[in-house]
This record gives sequence, structure tokens and C-alpha cells, in this order.
Amino acid sequence: MPINIEQLSHTYLPGSALAYPALSNISLTISEGEFLGIIGHTGSGKSTLIQHLNGLLLPTEGNVQVDGLDTREKKLRKQIRSLVGMVFQYPEYQLFDETVARDVAFGPKNMGLGEDEIATRVNEALRLVGLDPEAFSEKSPFELSGGEKRRAALAGILAMRPKYLVLDEPMAGLDPRGRREILSLVESLRRDFGTSIVMVSHSMDDVAMYADRIAVLDQGSLFMV
Ligand code: ADP
Ligand code: MG
Repeated sequence: MPINIEQLSHTYLPGSALAYPALSNISLTISEGEFLGIIGHTGSGKSTLIQHLNGLLLPTEGNVQVDGLDTREKKLRKQIRSLVGMVFQYPEYQLFDETVARDVAFGPKNMGLGEDEIATRVNEALRLVGLDPEAFSEKSPFELSGGEKRRAALAGILAMRPKYLVLDEPMAGLDPRGRREILSLVESLRRDFGTSIVMVSHSMDDVAMYADRIAVLDQGSLFMV
């Protein structure tokens, strides 16, 4: 089952003098195992759109269904959030715990998993992002380099084993090597686990190589290219 976006519009501060229509009438299906690139200028609505995929923002009009689950249903939100992993812009700013391992364990803990399962997933996720658990588990996140921090934050999402992985400008601020690492990591997740990828970027170059489809957002309207 896919993610289905039907005639989605989103207005910030509706009904007020500051009402701002950020998205208008967007329909889009994100299939299992697909790599969708979303590009557009700053302010075009990219972050607004993807925050609808896990119910962080709710439609002003239209609806979003994740594997048939409507994001407006409050009681489904937890289930939706475990299906859709969301990597925000500069996710390393959200690292907070004393050790890398504890940080990565945060999501799985919230899912109510047992200790052994959590430890397995933390190690697995760290290996996936290329951080050797032996070397990194007990480090403070603040000892890591910029690229390592970004990957540690990503590991925290991967440890929840999301079916859909949504990334908001995941390469922003990284050097060319860091960018390549993120891109090849994401592509290998899709290849090895069938994870669907939704990657937002302001640059066509970042997504052109791996994306199956590319959507362009322009002033809140979506065009497939
Ligand atoms: P992008 O991610 O493509 O840069 P955003 O989705 O962040 O674009 O923003 C789209 C538009 O909505 C912008 O004009 C922005 O100023 C506006 N916007 C974003 N967040 C809010 C908010 N919380 N309140 C009001 N307007 C917002
Ligand atoms: Mg944005």
C-alpha cells in the first residue's frame, strides 16, 4: 500500500489576517519502494508538504493516507509515525543525549520495544550509517564531526525501521564527500530493504541520479517532471 495525497491544501494561520496558502490542491501517490525527489526554491512549500506525510501538519483541505491510515485520525498517529521516518533539516541539532547509543535508542524506546531488541536495532542502525558501534556507541554526540553527527541523527530514525523514509534537505551544509555518503546510504536502504525514499532538495543535481520520479514545487503547486 502506498502513501496517498489527495487534493491537499495547507494554509498557515487560516482565518487570520496573516493567512498564508502554502500548498494548493496537491495530489500525489508515493509507492512502496519508490525513490521520489522533491525539488523547489526556498519557500515553495517543500517542508510543509513532507510534514503532512506523518501527520505533523494536517491538511486544511483534502487528505493524506499512509497505507490507508488517515493522518487526521489521532488514534492512528503513533502507527503512522512508525511507518514514516522523518529526518528534519539539520537533524544533528536534535542530538541531545550523553552517548550516541542512547540517542539512537530514543525512537525504538518510544516504540515500547524491549531492551535486547533496542540494542540490536541501535547497532544495526549505526552500522548502516557507517559508524562502527564499537567505536561510536559510548562517544558523546558532541565529539563527532559534522558529517558523523548527521549520520548519527539519521541512525536514530533508521533504528525505527521505517517503511517510508522522508528526508528534508539531508545533504545541506555537507562537503561533497558527506553528500555522496548520504546519497549512497539512502540508495542502499532502498535496494537492501525496499525502503521508500522521499528526498527534498533545492538542487536537481542531488536527486537526479537516483530518483525514479522528480516532483517540482513552485509557490505551493506541484508539477511532475
Ligand atoms: P520550503 O521548505 O520549500 O523552503 P516551507 O514549506 O518551509 O518552504 O514554506 C512555504 C511557505 O510557507 C513560505 O512562504 C513560508 O514562509 C511559509 N511558512 C512556513 N512555515 C510557516 C508557519 N509556521 N507559519 C506561517 N507561514 C509559514
Ligand atoms: Mg524547507
